[in-house]
This record gives sequence, C-alpha cells and structure tokens, in this order.
Amino acid sequence: MKLIPAPRPRTPATPSAATLTVDDLSVHYGGVRAVSSIGFSVEPGASVGIIGANGAGKTSTLKAVMGLVPRGGGRIMLGDLDLTRVRARDMVRHGIGYVPEGRHVFPGLTVEKNLLLGAYARAWDDDTRSTLAEVHELFPVLGEMSQRLAGALSGGQQQMLAIGRALMAQPRILLLDEPSMGLSPKLVGDILRVLTRLREDGLSMLLVEQNAKLTFGATSHCLVMENGAVAMTGTSEELSEDPRVRQIYLGL
Ligand code: ATP
Repeated sequence: MKLIPAPRPRTPATPSAATLTVDDLSVHYGGVRAVSSIGFSVEPGASVGIIGANGAGKTSTLKAVMGLVPRGGGRIMLGDLDLTRVRARDMVRHGIGYVPEGRHVFPGLTVEKNLLLGAYARAWDDDTRSTLAEVHELFPVLGEMSQRLAGALSGGQQQMLAIGRALMAQPRILLLDEPSMGLSPKLVGDILRVLTRLREDGLSMLLVEQNAKLTFGATSHCLVMENGAVAMTGTSEELSEDPRVRQIYLGL
C-alpha cells in the first residue's frame, strides 16, 4: 500500500484489493439484540460510512466483522475468503486493519514501538521501512515524537498513532471506529484530511461514526443504522441532502 496519493494512486486493479461483503449479519449480547440482519459491501478502493446514534449497533457491526464479538449468523467475505472462519488474532494477517474506538495505543511504549507493533505480522524489511516512512510522511508528528511514550500524546495524536499503527500492516481494507471521538473540531478536520488522502490513494475503508458531517466528507456511500438495523442507504451526497438525515444527524 502506498499512502502517498499522486501521481500513482492505488486502483481497484491492485491484486490484493477485494470486496468486503457482509450479509444477514446479526449480533446478540445475551438477550440484547444489538444488530439485526444487516448487509452491505465495500468495493475495492471504496470508502463506506456507517452513521447512527449512540447504541445503534455500529461498533458491534465492526467488532463482528473482526470476530471480536460472537456473531448470530450471517456471511462475511473478503473476496473469496470467509472471515467467519478467521480467528480475530489472524485478521491482520489477512489484510484487515482495525482502528478501535478509544484508540487503544500502548501507553508505556514509544510512538515508534507502537508503529512497529502494527507491522508484527510482516517480516521487517525494506518494504516495512518504507511503510514507516510513509506513515511519518502522512503524520509528521509521529516522526517528530517517535521516542515519546504514546501515553504522553494528546488525544488527537493518539488517534493519528492508532491509524498509523493499523496502516503499518498494509491492510487491504481499513475499519475505523469513531476516529473523531473526543476530538476538537480542528482535530476532526485533521482526521478528515487524512481519511480523504487515504481514500484518494485507493485504500478501501469502512468508517463507523457518530459525526455524520465527517463521514459524509470522507466516504462515497453510507448506511444509517437505527436500533441495530439499516434504516437508510445511499451515496454520501444524497444522504447529506436528505431532510431527515439533515435534521437528526446533522442538526440542521
Ligand atoms: P456508540 O456510538 O455509543 O459506540 P454504537 O452504535 O456503536 O454506539 P453498540 O456499541 O454496537 O452501538 O451497541 C449496540 C447495542 O448493544 C446497545 O444497546 C448497547 O448497549 C449494546 N451492547 C454493546 N456492547 C454490549 C455488551 N458487551 N454487552 C451487552 N450489551 C452491549
């Protein structure tokens, strides 16, 4: 994966590119039904968003794709790979990058070690070194603070680190859970710039967010989740102009 967009963007023809297909996926926590039979797909190089209020089932959907919560049935494929047969700890090896809600960086390790841990599934070689250089190019602050402890970074810097760490594995698709959580409007703008750049570079992304404005700016298509189900789908542009979405999710 190249993080530097022009003049050589990745295209859907990249050999490792594959469609993520989620079909009839449900998640239950004991008696609580968090996700009810949802379906969507992310084409190679596409950027898809899932928006919804607190408790709509967005995080449960991402965690179910990652195998971090038990799935109550459904099909999850990346190309012809059946992800329901892949253990959570092997997902990275199969090209699924995951930026969890709340960042979860390793606070007692340096920024550099956090990034290198992102590449644990790869052999350390010149290619890894060049990915690290690209992550530093994308997030200059991570290069400048390379020897600082991750726990000493601000929330926004930790978010950059969490994204950079996921990119170190050269994912085929990147799943992001609420990267804007707890960040100031300026930092949300920084996140949008980064996601836009990754999108221009052709990285497939699935972005879960409460911040609809950020999501519409960073994606081409979106789903609106309500009470565990898909309430609406459309292009991000269409949805951003929908009167109900504008009222409920954009506060306009
Ligand atoms: P948020 O934006 O607050 O993260 P969300 O849209 O991501 O919300 P989920 O976190 O997926 O929603 O939660 C969906 C439903 O599942 C909610 O009713 C929530 O209370 C419930 N839930 C989530 N995790 C658990 C759990 N570990 N045990 C029991 N119920 C859970």
